[in-house]
Amino acid sequence: MIEIALATNNAHKIKEVQQIAALFGGEEVLRWHLPRDLGLMFEAAETALTYRDNALQKALALREALQRGIWVLADDSGLEVDALGGKPGIHSARYHQQAPNGDGCAALLEALAAVPPTQRKARFRCVLVLVSPEENIFVFEGTCSGYIATEKRGLLGFGFDPVFIPDGERRTFAEMRPEEKHALSHRGLAMQALLLWLRSQTGR
Ligand code: IMP
Repeated sequence: MIEIALATNNAHKIKEVQQIAALFGGEEVLRWHLPRDLGLMFEAAETALTYRDNALQKALALREALQRGIWVLADDSGLEVDALGGKPGIHSARYHQQAPNGDGCAALLEALAAVPPTQRKARFRCVLVLVSPEENIFVFEGTCSGYIATEKRGLLGFGFDPVFIPDGERRTFAEMRPEEKHALSHRGLAMQALLLWLRSQTGR
């Protein structure tokens, strides 16, 4: 059993990471520690130029706040839209913050208003960085390809879920039950890779 502190204050990510771990048998190999349970608030700059380096900044910020050697996991993720040259990408969280009324989905639909359905390809990326007590770094990645809808649909999930339709689906992520999204999503795939690796380490 590996004890892992999760380096995020984002309630949506905490929920998803824990749901995904439970869905794929994670309770056999790991136990989570959340910053709030540890009585910690931590702030990471997220000024790096890649998902990996941003995730590493978050993991190291929590590690420093913890002041003890424990495994730390951080997630950095984003949506890349081909018609916008791969944006918002690593700036996805900021895209919502800077949109009118904080509605990044509406801002994205407006930016793509003139873009026909065949040119609305996009992908979510997730990079998980795990830092060991000895400060070794392990990286796990997941990508989910799809396209941007022409209107918001669905009430589940968070962020860009109401406008993202994964390949092979007609529904947006926000119209899927959590376990359906996690089976396809970038975070679900990255977490499955992490769990596989943890199993190889713990022999379970
Ligand atoms: P981060 O906290 O810097 O990694 O922000 C990632 C941003 O990407 C979030 O604020 C969302 O806007 C977007 N994002 C990442 N993963 C998802 C997802 O699974 N669904 C919807 N939006 C996501």
